[in-house]
Amino acid sequence: MPGRALTIRLGNGVEVLGDEEYHFDAEVIEACGRFCISHAHSDHLPKRVTAGSQVVASETTLRCLNDRSKKQVAMAPADGIEMFDAGHMAGSRMFQVEVSGRSVLYTGDLCPRDRCGNKGARPVKTDVLIIESTYGKPRYVFPPSDVIASLVRDEVEDILSQGRPVSLYAYPFGKSQDMLRVLREFSPFADRSVFNATSLVRCDADPLDCRLWDGDEVDDPFVVICSPWLNRTANAGALRRRNPKRLAVSGWALDSGYKARLGVDEAFPFSDHADFNDLISFVKACEPEMVITHHGFADSLAHEIKERLGIEARPLIKGQRSLLEF
Ligand SMILES: [Zn+2]
Ligand SMILES: [Zn+2]
Repeated sequence: MPGRALTIRLGNGVEVLGDEEYHFDAEVIEACGRFCISHAHSDHLPKRVTAGSQVVASETTLRCLNDRSKKQVAMAPADGIEMFDAGHMAGSRMFQVEVSGRSVLYTGDLCPRDRCGNKGARPVKTDVLIIESTYGKPRYVFPPSDVIASLVRDEVEDILSQGRPVSLYAYPFGKSQDMLRVLREFSPFADRSVFNATSLVRCDADPLDCRLWDGDEVDDPFVVICSPWLNRTANAGALRRRNPKRLAVSGWALDSGYKARLGVDEAFPFSDHADFNDLISFVKACEPEMVITHHGFADSLAHEIKERLGIEARPLIKGQRSLLEF
């Protein structure tokens, strides 16, 4: 379809349409079409797949996707699609494609900071940038990851030395593996979902040692990394009886009320996402003509990009298509 204007819309995932058509983080993977999956967090994986369909993703993302369903998906050839590390979790990728004469970079979730053994995402020059906006408000600025990591380590050491166990809440994919590295010296346990997630992303270069805690009696004061939804499993009671000090790591720890909402004693603002300043610097370094924000505080981020960088920016809204005219 030569001459077709570049259009970006939120439909079956983020759709980039023109002389080529791509779907990023689609809800349904169909037999036909080009589908790219950025990473293995459940809000980016498809809800439905067609058996025998194909996607472009990292090996890690594909393994995590196929672990969830009987219908297996294969790796598609990546012709015309460039992949870059997104720095967000194991196997997370950004994609750049050429559509109707314009280069378009889709970030999925990204983290440009190097943290705990993850190399951060590096900016890529592009005409159009589609960027996540999870922390797209100026108030979300995190302290350096290594500072927070050592605060977590000190806190855990303190509690264990008092003979009390620690439960540390983190999402099974991403931050849990960061915490396994940070707390390696304490030989951490992992609950079932963290253990399973870790088994899927571990590689020779990154062995991520951890012991499975499945509600069993453990003698010494111990630290267990668990998913925020452990509370809905049978093991929640077994853990509560040990009276652990409950910690959490999340960017949302900057919000007052977060600790109470999650029911923890202490929360640390450690995130696998870009903070607000990271987002602005990343956009600037990509030198785009146009930015499309989505996934989070999209309105706020688009506004701030226009104000601070003077770059045209707009949020991606369900049901609205962005016809891009240059
Ligand atoms: Zn994510
Ligand atoms: Zn996300």
